[in-house]
Amino acid sequence: MKNYDVVVIGSGPAGYVAAIRASQLGLKTLCIEKWVNQDGKHVNGGTCLNVGCIPSKSLLDSSQKYWEVTKDIGIHGISVKNVNFDVSKMHERKKKIVNQLTGGVSSLLKANGVECAFGHGKLHSSRRVTITDENGAETEVTANNVILAAGSKPIEIPVAEVDNDLILDSTGALEIDSVPKRLGIIGAGVIGLELGSVWGRLGSEVVLLEALEDFLAIMDKQIAEEAKRIFMKQGLDIRLGARVIGTEIKDKQVVVTYRNGEVIQKEVFDKLIVCVGRRPHTENLLAQDSGIEVDERGSVFVNEYCATNVPGVYAIGDLVRGPMLAHKGSEEGIMVAERIAGHKAQLNYDIVPNVIYTHPEVASVGRTEEQIKASGDPYNIGTFPFAASGRALASNDSDGFVKIIAHAETDRILGCHIVGPSAADLTQQVAIAMEFGSSAEDLGMTVFGHPTLSEAVHEAALSVSGSAIHMPNKKKR
Ligand code: FAD
Ligand code: NAD
Repeated sequence: MKNYDVVVIGSGPAGYVAAIRASQLGLKTLCIEKWVNQDGKHVNGGTCLNVGCIPSKSLLDSSQKYWEVTKDIGIHGISVKNVNFDVSKMHERKKKIVNQLTGGVSSLLKANGVECAFGHGKLHSSRRVTITDENGAETEVTANNVILAAGSKPIEIPVAEVDNDLILDSTGALEIDSVPKRLGIIGAGVIGLELGSVWGRLGSEVVLLEALEDFLAIMDKQIAEEAKRIFMKQGLDIRLGARVIGTEIKDKQVVVTYRNGEVIQKEVFDKLIVCVGRRPHTENLLAQDSGIEVDERGSVFVNEYCATNVPGVYAIGDLVRGPMLAHKGSEEGIMVAERIAGHKAQLNYDIVPNVIYTHPEVASVGRTEEQIKASGDPYNIGTFPFAASGRALASNDSDGFVKIIAHAETDRILGCHIVGPSAADLTQQVAIAMEFGSSAEDLGMTVFGHPTLSEAVHEAALSVSGSAIHMPNKKKR
């Protein structure tokens, strides 16, 4: 039986990154993956590359270009006639990008000396791993260390069973082949807003049914309120406190019944997307004798270094606690590989950026105002609206604002929340500053190029102490 220093189960952004780093550090590494794509090919890359981050961003960017040409271009003095789009070409482009990137991951694994096996991996006692291929043939290997990186799956709800014809999960929603006239979405979270934006820009009437009374409940409240205002202005019909209690297929349409307080309402849609969260993917991953503990939410239980309760077994990415984000899993993969190699790696979970890729984007890093208030830490806030940014006005993209929160005594930046153009990249600048322990004053003393959107970050940092230049300050220094 072959023995490896490291066996990784799953080649999503958590697993493939862990495998590459482990091999770079001289560890004999095997990465096991079971994904078979629409063309029947074994591919690496996991949810992120195949049916997540990348295909969704491809459609978001295609639909945004159409939206800009049809809705936005006149203000620049440009008129365009007979603008059309072809959904099948958008899908072809998306598929090409996905194939390029999944192929790229396989090449990277190979170039770094990682051995790849296609099949279903299962962990047994004493770090034995079985690999079952599609014909049922089983091989067994042993490992000094096992990294579980099996990812997550969409949560299913019995009131809206996915048939991937009329009722779709996020994977089906990335393959819709013509624009539905009326599109219903259960869950106004990240996927609902991103995919709702795609089809809304292409002409669907989009209705989002969200069970909670609060919109984007985990985001900073002020930012979430502004985002909701902008999305509603764009035409997304967001209904809060709307709990779906039944669905029925009638005449090739979906009739959705939902409860809003005491009121029962019905809506008819041409397609319905169910995106109410994701759950860890542990099915048939852990043999009874593996001894691995799973917490009450189904996540593999790990400590801050992603070590499970079984020595030599680690778990990373969507399979474990924390936000289900590709970059969070990748960083965990690097940390674990380095710790196996004897390095003292760690991950700063307080500074993991989170982005919703709508237009404008909604992005955050660090704690929200509500979390800081609840902790009792004294704080100051600085904000700056894009309406006062020369660059945002020049590009006719001036919705939203930057909000920076700093500790009232130390001035250390505790959080940054942005809704606005390029919010993802702007938030990343603050994430870097936070990683270096920056104060709002440090950011205020940094020279920012003009005219850039980044100047809004600079001004928000200055505004923390009442020193913003390009807007009136609420308080004086
Ligand atoms: P996964 O990517 O799910 O990979 C796990 C892999 O393990 C899969 O390939 C699976 O086939 C394999 N596997 C599972 N069990 C076994 C087994 N027993 N044997 C062998 N192989 C196995 N995150 C972002 O950060 N930014 C985004 O913009 C973003 N957009 C998204 C859009 C959508 C529509 C969706 C659905 C998700 C999005 N995400 C995004 C979330 C992101 O995709 C996940 O957080 C990320 O893919 C998790 O990485 P992972 O490696 O933990 O798991
Ligand atoms: P989500 O947690 O973002 O949103 C789900 C929403 O559905 C929540 O607002 C929840 O209150 C609501 N909900 C739950 N049950 C409901 C019900 N029965 N009826 C109506 N509403 C209900 O989950 P998601 O949008 O499915 O995305 C899953 C995960 O994938 C995200 O949490 C995120 O981790 C990841 N993701 C990230 C990105 C990104 O980083 N840009 C994009 C897509 C997905």
